[in-house]
Amino acid sequence: MQVIRTIKNMQTLSKALRSEKKTIGFVPTMGALHEGHLSLVRRSKNENDATVVSIFINPTQFGPKEDFKQYPKDEKGDLNKLSGLNVDAVFIPEADEMYHDGFNTTINIGHIGEILCGASRHGHFNGVATVVEKLFNIVMPDKTYFGQKDFQQTVVIKKLVKDLNFNIDIIVCPTVRETDWLAMSSRNSYLNNEERKAATILYKALKQGEALLGRGADDVSDVRRGMKALIKSEPLAEIEYIEVVEPRTLQGIEKIKKPVVICLAVKIGKTRLIDNLVVE
Ligand code: AMP
Repeated sequence: MQVIRTIKNMQTLSKALRSEKKTIGFVPTMGALHEGHLSLVRRSKNENDATVVSIFINPTQFGPKEDFKQYPKDEKGDLNKLSGLNVDAVFIPEADEMYHDGFNTTINIGHIGEILCGASRHGHFNGVATVVEKLFNIVMPDKTYFGQKDFQQTVVIKKLVKDLNFNIDIIVCPTVRETDWLAMSSRNSYLNNEERKAATILYKALKQGEALLGRGADDVSDVRRGMKALIKSEPLAEIEYIEVVEPRTLQGIEKIKKPVVICLAVKIGKTRLIDNLVVE
């Protein structure tokens, strides 16, 4: 497994692979890898001749009051996990390699980046779109793999690819969960024991939302009210948003017409967690 730290060396490898007519699968991550990330890597290994994983904690997608400085890092552990899966290359650039002095061009993804998580995380999705666009130009993949866990991010990336005519397939992979159904996330490591137990409320609320829809609730406000009451029963939880949206556009709906996605962001103590459930 090659560990590559410069853009030039990454582009050289990708060009060589492409000239050998090898397909490249790409999994962008911020590291502190868990089974959720590894599920994307395995899928890429199955579907491509070569797999590249990037590990980059992208400063431009964090707000000034967010956890950029504390974000978990485990380069050694990550490299061990990836070499165990026979990944071909890991791209680990420093921030000043990705953002050279005078860097000034950014992507504005528009409205889709300003709703749901974007309403509180201003500029987050523009930062995501900018770094992903740069990574696409560096890694030059045929297929890229993203987790449904970050549902809004998948919609943003699909829009980026469509609007800017990238010839890249976006593959969305299912959310990998702990045995108590908490969605795996690098940020789960912030939770203490009590908060970790409380965090199971997110998935319970999603399942309650799904059950309410299954029982024929056709008004989103009923679904939201039921979910809200359940989450409020957990003293450590503070709701940021609960929305029921149309999966392609993320537009909020009033009357249910399936498929829909129930999306939520909830703070458990100081840790902001997100999750979602597609209801067909
Ligand atoms: P991150 O390192 O959090 O930026 O995540 C990198 C990629 O892994 C993104 O496409 C995430 O959606 C995906 N991912 C994170 N957690 C999970 C999970 N529990 N299940 C599936 N994919 C995930």
